[in-house]
Amino acid sequence: MPSWNSRGERECRQRLESHKGRLYRSSLTVAHPCLRIRDENLEIARTNIKRHDWAKKFYDNTVALADHYADRTVAWIETMIPALTPLHIYGTFCPVCEGDNTWAMIWDHRDPEKLTCCHCGVVMTDQKFPEEGRLDLPRSGQTLSYYLRRGEKGDPEFATGRNAFVWAGRKVHTSFLGAIRQKKTHHMPGVARALAILYRMTGQDRYARAAATILKRFAQVYPNYVFHDYWNTFMDCDPLYACELMARDKDVGRYEVNACPDQNARSGMKSGKLIQTFWGCGRMSSGGVQAEARHLMDLAEALDLLWDAKDRDGSPFLTKKERETVIRDLLAEGLFTFTHWEGINNKVAGCRVGEVALGRFLGAPAYVHRGVEGFEPYLRGFFNFDGSTNEGSGYYAYAVSNVHLLPEVARGYTDPPSYKKKDRFKELDLYDPDGIYRTVLRARPLMTLPDGRVPHTADAHEGHAGWPGPAWLHNIGAVRLGREFVPFVNFSSGDDFAFFNRPAVMKGTDPPPVRDLFFPGWLLTVFNTGYQRTFQEDLTGTATFLMNFYEPDGHDHPDALNIAMFAEGVEVLSDLGYIGDHPLNASIRSTLKHNLVVLDEREQLPRGQRPPGNLRLIAASPRTKVIEADCRAYAEAEVYRRCCFMIHRGVGPAYLVDLFRAKGGKVHDYAIHGEGKLTALPAFAEGKPIPLSKRRGTMGRDIEKLRAGKTCGQPWTVAWADEGVTVRVHFASPTGEVIVGEGPGQRDHSEIGARHDYLFARNRDRGRGNAFVTVIDHYRETPDIAGVQAIAPPDGAGGPMALRVFRRAGEDTILHSPDPSERVFGRMTFAGRAAVHSREQDGRLSLFLTEATRFTALNLSVTFRRPAIEGTVTASDRSGFETDARIPDAAALTGSFVEVEDPEQKCWTAYAIRSIRGRRVEVDHFPFNGGTRFRIPSVFSLEQESGDALRLRATTPAEIRLRTDRFSRAAYEQDGKEVRAAQTRVEEGCLTIQIDPKALKAGEGLIRLKS
Ligand SMILES: [Zn+2]
Ligand SMILES: [Zn+2]
Repeated sequence: MPSWNSRGERECRQRLESHKGRLYRSSLTVAHPCLRIRDENLEIARTNIKRHDWAKKFYDNTVALADHYADRTVAWIETMIPALTPLHIYGTFCPVCEGDNTWAMIWDHRDPEKLTCCHCGVVMTDQKFPEEGRLDLPRSGQTLSYYLRRGEKGDPEFATGRNAFVWAGRKVHTSFLGAIRQKKTHHMPGVARALAILYRMTGQDRYARAAATILKRFAQVYPNYVFHDYWNTFMDCDPLYACELMARDKDVGRYEVNACPDQNARSGMKSGKLIQTFWGCGRMSSGGVQAEARHLMDLAEALDLLWDAKDRDGSPFLTKKERETVIRDLLAEGLFTFTHWEGINNKVAGCRVGEVALGRFLGAPAYVHRGVEGFEPYLRGFFNFDGSTNEGSGYYAYAVSNVHLLPEVARGYTDPPSYKKKDRFKELDLYDPDGIYRTVLRARPLMTLPDGRVPHTADAHEGHAGWPGPAWLHNIGAVRLGREFVPFVNFSSGDDFAFFNRPAVMKGTDPPPVRDLFFPGWLLTVFNTGYQRTFQEDLTGTATFLMNFYEPDGHDHPDALNIAMFAEGVEVLSDLGYIGDHPLNASIRSTLKHNLVVLDEREQLPRGQRPPGNLRLIAASPRTKVIEADCRAYAEAEVYRRCCFMIHRGVGPAYLVDLFRAKGGKVHDYAIHGEGKLTALPAFAEGKPIPLSKRRGTMGRDIEKLRAGKTCGQPWTVAWADEGVTVRVHFASPTGEVIVGEGPGQRDHSEIGARHDYLFARNRDRGRGNAFVTVIDHYRETPDIAGVQAIAPPDGAGGPMALRVFRRAGEDTILHSPDPSERVFGRMTFAGRAAVHSREQDGRLSLFLTEATRFTALNLSVTFRRPAIEGTVTASDRSGFETDARIPDAAALTGSFVEVEDPEQKCWTAYAIRSIRGRRVEVDHFPFNGGTRFRIPSVFSLEQESGDALRLRATTPAEIRLRTDRFSRAAYEQDGKEVRAAQTRVEEGCLTIQIDPKALKAGEGLIRLKS
């Protein structure tokens, strides 16, 4: 028996016990069931079972789970809900291979006393590995046991953890039995819910009986589950008192019992050493108190469905007294445990969900209001205004999943008549079509790449092509919010939400269009080429390019201006992502493990010091896209600016032209890596290998076995291969040295020891800065690119750049200028920011220009009325802004990007234009966040489809001059029909065509040349 009897504990307990009494009485005034599963949901489920195989299977699985428990004795079920406080799965190490089992340990509820190592297969609960370490909680009357590692046996000071395992950088003790207790207590609430649901669906008493047994057992043991964190620290006092002490940060140290006091650990507490606060504490869980809320909600739903149900003989499954005990000692006791946690982070929302659910169940409007009122601030506080989070796609999913049940449990809620305040809820519906929650949910389909993956910046896991997840999100979106989610729903499968809520008659629609996107709050771009449609199976010829410059936050990486790429479904430029709280995490997230320029071998500035980057140019046509951004990623970086062209020509996926300008610091390393080992060592363009010799030391913390060679300013190449795709990097601008090293490349818990080669092209900054110009191409068998030649490399970090790429069937010339003044590049003249000119062997031309006024090459010359439209934002709202002047040729700008200076984010960002009317600009996909100035770069593209057909896109009036002796006229054509003649003139062997964007459909159209 616990001896929790200090004055503070007595006062706390007395107060809360009488609060429990009030909650019990108010729970009797609520009509049950009131939570997620009501009669209409059971009806939808029945129809789904009849109509759909996936639903039948879902149901069969639920029956199998429930049947495993339905006919068990009370005593047997009780073994699944232990009396002793559950410990944590975090930091569970194998006694034989010493591998960390935290994320993938093998435990099966059908063989629940056994824990198997996911690495070596040893049964960790074997008698050979007894738990001889003891930790007494004298006040609570509980004794925990731990496995003693080699060197810990006989150590009188084992409790200090000096020889313990190290997990996530701290000493931690492992308890297989404790981990099993947590596995069980996490498993059984869902079993209770499943049993109660099946009772409602089948009417079979045995299901209800087992559910009632689980509820009663939890009510019996839960009050004695003491508060603890996942570093083996226990609060040896009344757990509710512990919560109040923690919430007030008062006297925590007085009750702490710490099995593993990491001497160097810092605590968030002032009054104690408890390392984790509510973030990593709990009673049946220690992964954060939000998990407590989640499990208690399942238990509340089970009771919600049983409530006063009676068996065939007319006896209730729970007597009134038993039900009262469950409500008081499990549900109210649990509610008091997790309701103290405030703040905005990726976990806390689960507490707000629990407050709404338990508040509604208990007839306690104050909790419902507290939960609901925490909903929007959480969404606004955690997510960017565009619905994304700088913590990346993985933590996006985690954070949104932690809150997603809140609108569900709140749905249709009305405050009881006794609620007298003015902010009464009536038929609550939090699915506001104009609200932030819709923006947050919509961010998922928008961040989904055409093959079903999501971007993997920051702490995200490597994804796989296929149906985009999470299923619940697309299902909730489709059922509650609108059609835009429907293409993302896999109608041949379903989850818990779909089973009970998705109408059986609902059908899928065509896949959404493939787009080039820019997330205005996340500051991340996604460019796509070569796709026929979203979710196509054959990814031949496709490519997706990503670049980010978000402001660091939470699970960020120091990786501003990093680029990543998929070619034909293979991640050819990777971000290593995240492997949980793993010792390699710091290594993985290092700046040096990214694809960018490293200054002085150092990490980019951290959180709090690194501002967001600024978008400097963005423009896209179907086959050529360009983005340029800069960022003060290093304090000494006067220039840190990258411009990438994604160019799709000829066969195979798109290639990249990368121009990275840097100035400041002493040494600049252009870092790039693929998966695994180099398949072609650095070699000069003519194939001669660059001699490499051993170099001492490491790059960063752990890139070792360094080899280095002089590149002497000559062009050179290097290549990797992964899954049959070779990624090759051509260094076209002069570099001084190449450094190759190897370091950890492990991306998940199963790839132990995986190593990658990391490559650095080095230049010293002698005061003028550097610009690295590379071409990055990909191929399976034969490369399409035969050579690369810098016509005009930049001068230091400044100046223009001209590059030629020789393909098997043609050649491309890529031009870039820091400003739009006119310059001569060999036989070309260009006044503008970026140009790509292509010429095929059969003579066909194509041209892409942005922010240009003039371009001339051999037989072709183009001039424009304006390089960009610039102005002031005079007013704005969620959907767009007003400008100081009328915007010309508005119809042709739909789909183009508008760059906006955002005073709230303190950077330049961009939006896709939905429409423009007069002085009003409507933006697409994301809410508008406000702005002071704007800029719409002009985009022009010309593709010669055949000898006499030019496919054109122009956002500004243009004049095209062609040297020709064949043609003397031109006409606009639509769907194979001539719609009007173009204004032309012929002089000195040239045909001049005036292009009026108004004559093009949405800025695009075909011009037919005539003789
Ligand atoms: Zn093992
Ligand atoms: Zn990264």
